[in-house]
Amino acid sequence: METNLKNKVAVVTGAGGVICSEMAKSLAAMGVKTALIDINAEAVEKLAIEIEKKYNIASIGVAASVLDKESLKNAKEIINNKLGSIDYLINGAGGNSPLATAGVDQMVDSDLDNLDETFFGMKMEGFDKVFDLNFKGTILPTMVFSMDMIEKKEGSIVNISSMNSYRPLTRIAAYSAAKAAVNNFTQWLSVHFSKMGVRVNAIAPGFLLTNQNRFLLTDEKTGEPTARGVKIINNTPMERYGTPEELQGTLLYLLSDWSAFVTGVVIPVDGGFSAYSGV
Ligand code: NAD
Repeated sequence: METNLKNKVAVVTGAGGVICSEMAKSLAAMGVKTALIDINAEAVEKLAIEIEKKYNIASIGVAASVLDKESLKNAKEIINNKLGSIDYLINGAGGNSPLATAGVDQMVDSDLDNLDETFFGMKMEGFDKVFDLNFKGTILPTMVFSMDMIEKKEGSIVNISSMNSYRPLTRIAAYSAAKAAVNNFTQWLSVHFSKMGVRVNAIAPGFLLTNQNRFLLTDEKTGEPTARGVKIINNTPMERYGTPEELQGTLLYLLSDWSAFVTGVVIPVDGGFSAYSGV
């Protein structure tokens, strides 16, 4: 069965990272032209060359920040000139910060002597950083890149949320709240755009072992899983971390016309984590 993906133009933010570089490759494998956006210019330029060579389909790396509207506007001009009008947007740039991460799961009496590790030690600078990157970093690219879709009354936007958006994980207060905001915004925008032919959905990946969470899930020195890592595996019915490749089917489904009546949903891809009560 054919989809309408072939020769469409997709913008992928955070494409220099673990998850979105794989997403870009799977789009290219389906015949989608990709514009790879990242602050890490070298990573996306290298990836674009790799994609063109492997999949024989146009791909460009464009340096821009999802927090800088001017740089996104410049990127759009380059994309329109080189690849054409934009059909899809994957808002993948995101991440956590140690500055907004508590050192303990639950505060207990003995923490009164060391508040730094609790909620009271968290830095507002960290909250700002995490909210900016995950929430504003989804809004701004959408403002810039969705205009082409609105003009042609056709397009699909996929935001990358997280498992912690439904129920917060311990320690990462800012990241959980920022991803909850992404879910809320996904629903809001899906309604706002629903008569304009543009669908807006999100994927909530479960636990993958990547750069952003390695410091929480594996011991830096020994490489062994931390107590938190063990807890995650024990609460994931499939008893393993996911891989970036395992997000691809959901991404292609949400972008393609196979999901033409689907908008405003956040789909978990989590090995059963969100379904499991722990008993
Ligand atoms: P990653 O750190 O490997 O990639 C993130 C990319 O975003 C990097 O290439 C980075 O340079 C880029 N970036 C950072 N700030 C930017 C900015 N201002 N403008 C443009 N690009 C910027 O992270 P990842 O694990 O591949 O995560 C991708 C997405 O998936 C994120 O939104 C993350 O929150 C989400 N996610 C990850 C996991 C996981 O387990 N890794 C789970 C759920 C959700």
